[in-house]
Amino acid sequence: MKEFGLFINGKWEAAEGGKTADTINPATEAPWAKVAVASRNDVKKAVAAAKKSFDSGVWRKKSKEERAKVLESIAAAIMERAEELAAAEARDGGGTIRKASFMDVPGTAGTFQEFARVLRASEEEQVFEETVPVPSKNIIRAEPIGVCAGIVPWNFPMIMASWKIAPAIAAGNSIVLKPASVTPVTALMIADICKSAGVPDGVVNVVSGPGAEVGEELATNADVGKIAFTGSTEVGRRIMQLASGTIKKVTLELGGKSPNIILDDADLDTAAMGALFGTFMHQGQICESGTRVLVPQKLYDTFIDKMIAGSKRITIGDTMDMMTTMGPLVSAAQLKTVGGYVDAGKSEGAECVLGGDRPANMKKGYYFNPTIFAGVNNKMRIAQEEIFGPVVAMIPYKTEEEAISIANDSMYGLGGAVWSKNKDRALGVARQIQTGTVWINDYHMISPRFPFGGYKQSGVGRELGPWGLAAYQEIKHIHVGESVPADQKIYFGALFN
Ligand code: NDP
Repeated sequence: MKEFGLFINGKWEAAEGGKTADTINPATEAPWAKVAVASRNDVKKAVAAAKKSFDSGVWRKKSKEERAKVLESIAAAIMERAEELAAAEARDGGGTIRKASFMDVPGTAGTFQEFARVLRASEEEQVFEETVPVPSKNIIRAEPIGVCAGIVPWNFPMIMASWKIAPAIAAGNSIVLKPASVTPVTALMIADICKSAGVPDGVVNVVSGPGAEVGEELATNADVGKIAFTGSTEVGRRIMQLASGTIKKVTLELGGKSPNIILDDADLDTAAMGALFGTFMHQGQICESGTRVLVPQKLYDTFIDKMIAGSKRITIGDTMDMMTTMGPLVSAAQLKTVGGYVDAGKSEGAECVLGGDRPANMKKGYYFNPTIFAGVNNKMRIAQEEIFGPVVAMIPYKTEEEAISIANDSMYGLGGAVWSKNKDRALGVARQIQTGTVWINDYHMISPRFPFGGYKQSGVGRELGPWGLAAYQEIKHIHVGESVPADQKIYFGALFN
């Protein structure tokens, strides 16, 4: 079995008291790695190492170009270890090796690569000559915040780690990252890769351990200046409260219940496959999944038939087989949650027209069949609450206005899509959807080049691109006034005769 410690100050460390936990492969239900479990004291040690490295200037004082080159080396090192990282990601989280190889590894490397580009293109210092309120030179500097904390979930452990580490270090910060307890391995591997690619000791630290202890220490520690969290809205609320004690900068990327609107002029065959891709990719465990599919009443039955037919092309099986396209849910707890929502959908009167149960041929693993609910109205729990499983709610609508109103009738506002052959018409709808991302004739097309985040209770702030870099910077204004006698400082006249 593979073993991992805590990654603190550039070294592998045992946790206080030698505490460890096994991480379970969701496809086999068997332990596959042993990982150190941090205590509050271990977190304090990691924060102290991060602070020391930040205060020393060993990283933040490097030029933009030097930092960008290290980020590019990290991206290259990730691709060199692609096979090993993909296998670890699939074993830890239950995603397929196909997804890990084609999405997670290149996506993680791509995030570091893109932040190297964003950093080079950014202005660390801008100068403005002004005459108002007095003649002066004004320097606007984008500076790192200090010690940043990242808390990430289990659905995309490696990409999510890169979304926190890459912008934090691009901006010159140090970071302490906490992975989800069920999927800690690849974040630890990325920390080791960062060191080997030239990141100085103490700049990137990764500590695995329980949210209530490790996460809460990070959210309250006075030496942490910023906290970036991805996960449930419930825990996001708690982090916002805890972070208020020391007025930390906060970025939250939370849950979603995203609308996927099929307009009556859409290419129905493509849209049906898109609706399946939008909800069943990675077993539906994606925050921006299009879990509410809104279909014109007159096309409703036809469209559902197309989705049922399309779902036959999904292959459930061994996660390490390249032909498998759907793996298990991450944990027994998540399996129970998803099963509970299926029961809730049925008891509220929705009709389960596909799935709703576990695949009979999978004797081990937390597998769940792709599940389609018809006859859903937007007030039902399966249309309002984040399920985080392969469950889609099909909602009929009569007019475009009604579709927009249903789409926006949610406490969430993360993602969504509009399908139409008429791009201008689709754009008109997209502009009225209250979410951070809307795709037209596509789904899940997230790029590190463009901002990602949520309206309403889906979050605070934006990650990725220049917007994501700015979230890890403080802005300073330095006013350089004229060195002239006091009687020429006209504003002094407000106080002195
Ligand atoms: P959580 O929000 O509980 O977990 C996300 C991260 O937060 C994990 O690293 C977790 O640590 C940590 N955490 C938990 N409690 C605290 C706390 N009090 N203070 C600080 N950090 C904490 O998600 P769950 O794993 O419980 O999943 C529950 C639901 O959340 C899912 O069904 C889904 O609806 C939603 N979710 C949304 C995600 C998204 O991307 N928007 C991602 C994952 C889940 P630990 O692992 O140790 O508990």
